[in-house]
Amino acid sequence: MKGRTLIAELHESIDKEVTVGAVVDVRRDHGKLVFLDLRDRTGVVQAVALPNHAEALAVAQELRPEYVVRVEAKVNKRPERMVKADQPNGDIELEILSVTILARASELPFDKDTALNIDTNFDYRPLTLRRDRERAIFAVQAEIVHAYREYLRGEGFSEFQAPKIVGDDAEGGAEVFRFEYFNDRMASLATSPQLYKQILVGVYERVFSTGTMFRAERHSTSRHLNELTMLDLEMGFIDDHRDVMAAMEGLMRYLNTHLQKTSAREFALMEATLPLVPEGQFPTMTLKEAQELIKKETGADKVGAPDLDPEDERWLCSYANEHLQSDYVFVTHYPTSKRPFYTMDDPEVPGMTKSFDLLFRGVEIVSGSQRIHDHDALVQKMESKGLDPAKFSFYLQAFKYGIPPHGGTGLGLERLTQKMLGLENVKEASLFPRDMNRIDLLLAKDTAHTSDL
Ligand code: ATP
Ligand code: MG
Repeated sequence: MKGRTLIAELHESIDKEVTVGAVVDVRRDHGKLVFLDLRDRTGVVQAVALPNHAEALAVAQELRPEYVVRVEAKVNKRPERMVKADQPNGDIELEILSVTILARASELPFDKDTALNIDTNFDYRPLTLRRDRERAIFAVQAEIVHAYREYLRGEGFSEFQAPKIVGDDAEGGAEVFRFEYFNDRMASLATSPQLYKQILVGVYERVFSTGTMFRAERHSTSRHLNELTMLDLEMGFIDDHRDVMAAMEGLMRYLNTHLQKTSAREFALMEATLPLVPEGQFPTMTLKEAQELIKKETGADKVGAPDLDPEDERWLCSYANEHLQSDYVFVTHYPTSKRPFYTMDDPEVPGMTKSFDLLFRGVEIVSGSQRIHDHDALVQKMESKGLDPAKFSFYLQAFKYGIPPHGGTGLGLERLTQKMLGLENVKEASLFPRDMNRIDLLLAKDTAHTSDL
């Protein structure tokens, strides 16, 4: 918009006339005056239409929330007693000289400031995303991705774009969406960039990606989506999985500092707090040690179980928060039977792998490990897991022709965002969540109240 002044920059134009392009947040009528809260991408400001600008006042009286307007106005300093120090732009006010309606808006189908039922929130997603709460969630999410990139680039990692269409036997896992490709051939949607990032270790040593991945899990939990964003990394020339854990720990510390600098307003709005990070290393225990601790402290005997249950993850995290000054806990050494074929066994702990999960505020947010880099060992491991190495011949080239010892991690962006901001459901951390019951409105069970859309 020609000559537009952004709301965050109005302070530079006190006593001057400006053109503002904005959306009406709220309209309040006081006798003959109309007050508007106007918002643009940079902030909110109060504007007032006065009877001495009759034409502007008449248009202002027509406005409703979400109307898009161009406003010509004078920027006034508020008298001392009207200053609202706790509000952004609380010390200025726009005196409206004229208003042009750029787009009209129907009445919102929900009350903007009240808590919404999760289905209503997703049924009206194009509108609910405009709320302060949602904008704060996705502003923080964007900062997480930004920090991830910035940190890893600083550590010498190269960014790559992973393919999302893969052959029919990605990792030998079952939870894939299959679809018809060309010439009657079936293909799948990628569940992770795993095999490609390993191949790229042979090219760039250190790589990372941020991308959409698909999981055909028939889960209906507060931590599973069917389309998610994975922040992946893979690094060469490691001694063992602990080098990868150190990289992940460095990333989480960097993220804390970054969010503190960029997102204080959003954390306050969400009533969320930054993670508790210990001064020394993140607490780390083997799966067995974790199980023994749980047994000792709670009496629940799960020693020897191949994985942690969700309630164990919650318990461990609250224990770490209370006793170890940390919202993060590493659990290492999961059994060979529970980890994918490319995970390296730990010769010193029979039956266990050089693998780890990073738990954060009650859930797993990261899985990682040292990978097998020896071609023959990898083939043997595939066979022992009942996979056909011939189906992996493309991937195996990287190993046949030499690849450094390496390891890496997969981090779920939505889960991290969820836990960072204390959201009840991971779906709230996805702009347009896909689950068993929903693709926008396509599968929504109860569309009755949206039939007017
Ligand atoms: P879980 O056991 O919790 O279902 P997973 O072990 O199957 O997860 P990984 O394959 O290890 O998941 O994926 C790496 C990370 O990606 C997870 O730690 C998690 O943060 C995220 N993630 C995996 N699956 C999902 C999902 N369906 N929805 C949201 N995030 C997911
Ligand atoms: Mg995992």
